[in-house]
Amino acid sequence: MNRVLVTGGAGFLGSHVCAELMKSPDNYVTALDDLSTGKRENIASLLSSDRFEFIQWDVRQPFDRPVDQIYHAACPASPKEYQRSPTSTTKTCVLGTLNMLELAKKYDAKILQFSTSEVYGNPLLHPQKEEYFGNVNPIGVRSCYDEGKRCAESLCFDYAREFGTKVKIIRIFNTYGPHMDIADGRVVSNFIVQALRGDPITIHGDGSQTRSFCYVDDLVSGILRMMNDTADDFQGPVNLGNPEEITVIALARKVLEMTGSSSRLQYLPLPGDDPVQRRPDISLAGEKLNWKPKVSLDDGLEKTIQYFREIAAP
Ligand code: UDP
Repeated sequence: MNRVLVTGGAGFLGSHVCAELMKSPDNYVTALDDLSTGKRENIASLLSSDRFEFIQWDVRQPFDRPVDQIYHAACPASPKEYQRSPTSTTKTCVLGTLNMLELAKKYDAKILQFSTSEVYGNPLLHPQKEEYFGNVNPIGVRSCYDEGKRCAESLCFDYAREFGTKVKIIRIFNTYGPHMDIADGRVVSNFIVQALRGDPITIHGDGSQTRSFCYVDDLVSGILRMMNDTADDFQGPVNLGNPEEITVIALARKVLEMTGSSSRLQYLPLPGDDPVQRRPDISLAGEKLNWKPKVSLDDGLEKTIQYFREIAAP
């Protein structure tokens, strides 16, 4: 049996990773989640399996259990959630990663760190390549997450250099799909839910800022390739995301059209340090993982709208 630990296993990404891992009869999957932003419903279909276990656990506390692989996803990831208690976010990023690295070191397990495009901050280089050191405001409202995740990357590489721990890092760009929390404030879920309910579509700033949105199934396939199909001495970091870039205002119009909604646009102030543009250069993922996203934004939005129709329609 391959003993796999997924931290943040009841969250948006973690729950999809668990579901994918459960397709292989060789995997015994333990999901940890403190349920601060994760939800039991996201893993409800897995709970009946005798190869799956859920433990409510805060990764800021050390965890000890023999494991072979660790997918370390635990951390609130939407700006609204990670800024709710910024000091808790930094502790989750830093202490959580430290605890998981200790676990990997103890059992000679492989650990995959879920890092983020936020390590590039408000990027001055476009699109972003892994070599870029980023442009992060160290004292801004996003720094708890950005610097926390940067420190987590630093810890991973130091464990590898100092103790020979088997680490891998992926930098995840904006991802969307089923299991996104309806109220976590991210743009795709907000726009879809607002459109379905006929509420105003909240555009931050003038909506000219860009993001590049990856459908969750594509992301998960890249994640598993990074863990299982790369040599131990390949640590990354590797960008994972969809390079199809779109402005926030164009996304709003697309969602309105696809849902047939007559919601109006409501312009709100741009939050502090909101990156102006973001698009991954995924050539390294292509070369090392033979990976690129397959799901177009239109197809992915269709599936996500369907999900929110079922859980969020009035
Ligand atoms: N955004 C928006 N309206 C919303 C939520 C977000 O215009 O209701 C903007 C947000 O300011 C940012 C972009 O959409 O420019 C993506 O925001 P999100 O929170 O999804 O992710 P991140 O900023 O971390 O990329």
